[in-house]
Amino acid sequence: MSFTMHGIAVSSGIAIGHAHLVSHSSLEVAHYVLPKQFIDEEISRFDAALQATRNEFLSLRSNRPTRAAAEFDAFLELHQMILDDPLLSVAPRKTIASERCNAEWALKVQTEMLVAQFDEFEDAYLRERQTDVKQVAERLLKQLLGQHGHQLPTARHDVEMILVAHDLSPADLIQFKPHQYAAFVTDAGGATSHTAIVARSLDTPCVVGLRNARVLVREDDLLILDGEQGVLIINPDKAILAEYKLRQSAWELERKKLKRLRTARANTLDGTLIELHANIEKPEDIAEAKENGATGIGLFRSEFLYLNRDDLPDEEEQFEAYRAAAAGMDCQPVTIRTFDLGADKQLKGVERVANNPALGLRAIRMCLAEPQLFRTQLRALLRASHYGKVKILIPMLSSVSELNQTLQFVAAARQSLDAENIPYDREVKIGGMIEIPAAALALNVFVKKLDFLSIGTNDLIQYTLAIDRTDADVAHLYDPLHPAVLYLLSYVIGTANKSGLPVSVCGEMAGELVYTRLLLGLGLRQFSMFSAQVPGVKQRVLTTSLPEIAALTQKILRADDPMKIRELLDRLNS
Ligand code: PEP
Ligand code: MG
Repeated sequence: MSFTMHGIAVSSGIAIGHAHLVSHSSLEVAHYVLPKQFIDEEISRFDAALQATRNEFLSLRSNRPTRAAAEFDAFLELHQMILDDPLLSVAPRKTIASERCNAEWALKVQTEMLVAQFDEFEDAYLRERQTDVKQVAERLLKQLLGQHGHQLPTARHDVEMILVAHDLSPADLIQFKPHQYAAFVTDAGGATSHTAIVARSLDTPCVVGLRNARVLVREDDLLILDGEQGVLIINPDKAILAEYKLRQSAWELERKKLKRLRTARANTLDGTLIELHANIEKPEDIAEAKENGATGIGLFRSEFLYLNRDDLPDEEEQFEAYRAAAAGMDCQPVTIRTFDLGADKQLKGVERVANNPALGLRAIRMCLAEPQLFRTQLRALLRASHYGKVKILIPMLSSVSELNQTLQFVAAARQSLDAENIPYDREVKIGGMIEIPAAALALNVFVKKLDFLSIGTNDLIQYTLAIDRTDADVAHLYDPLHPAVLYLLSYVIGTANKSGLPVSVCGEMAGELVYTRLLLGLGLRQFSMFSAQVPGVKQRVLTTSLPEIAALTQKILRADDPMKIRELLDRLNS
């Protein structure tokens, strides 16, 4: 049966391929009955996974972050206790023997039973402990699956595959990078969630917020995904398929044409040079940035070096990554953001359960709370600055005391390198992300102490409008054209320009063609976006005259009716 679903378009392009479903919970596992002679072997496999999980806990303990040591130890102790409880370590062995089932299934059945018991508790704290049981069980399950070699699903190479999941974390998605999926589909998520951002950076069409695609789509169904319109067509008929094949070819042709602009300078019609930089997650992304004609890296999200692993990247590893990026850009600027961990990007093993993760210990707050991690990163960044034009960017600043503390950390890192005679760029620039309304409104304080600014519109919009960027239920309220957002953008860009401080936008707005002229009209001269968006934005810049858009931009700023704002924006773009 053919049907269509609508979600939130987050990464453009048209993909046609077969569905591959992944479970949102790794506890969804296959069930099979084993011949009697394999039972002992299956129990040994379970025991081996149990031991490997114990070893994993031991290694986590030796790599624990210093500042959070007490919290981390308590969390590990609890998880070790859960693992060693006979209800988890012995009961599944009995199930394997009595039911003659595979170890994964025995573990799943037992975990579900335990979780159901926790549900009965009146005490909220005890009820919440079911999350710990699930986490320990998942860790054990991963070991079991690892022994089978069932890691992340790998795309088949004979047909195009579209990954359909209830939800994918940014860490999950980055792991799919080498697997060449034609598109991603998720039930959860908003347009600027980090999952969406990673999909865009992979240059892979993606639609999120489909709500129940994971349930309605079946394995191997033929799918058409339109990442521009946010449409997913399941089992299309021949005529629709033919139509979308045509659209797909047209889209690819257009992309090829745009790429010819690679070496053109991004000058407006009146001759103003606009810097178009790229956002990257790993040094390997530099090649794509250059291929698309980016003249610098405006945002290197360094936290991705910390994800999908049980240990932490040490100074040497980070230095190598930052040096490779700096050297790879041949003296063009490489803006590296100190780690923005927390919220939806969590270190493995220290996932914190905060009531409001986006308002919790995230980004610079986490850096300052983990001085050892921060020192290591700053030393690596400074050392890399000797090999190119590194700029250091501080995420999520909200108060001047955070900035002062950060600058003291930088000074201490410089001193430690001086003491060891290690070279670094003494002129290295320190910038701040303006992504919290408080920082935007109190900009004068930051302007005095920083060398450059970068506006993170994804968070600025999230925090201004009080909508969780990862929550599909409020995604429709996410509005870059809200007068409050436009006011803050105009104020920050205007104030920075008046002070002679370089300012860029590195949130998703910077790469969306519909906002290019508006941002230019607000005075923005530096944009940073995911690499594949650079040619399109460049074409828009090349066809824009700054004097011609000035009056209309001011009208948009003065308008307060949403319909009117959209109408004026359409005129600006026509
Ligand atoms: C932003 O908030 O706009 C930004 C660029 O940072 P991130 O999306 O990584 O939070
Ligand atoms: Mg941000």
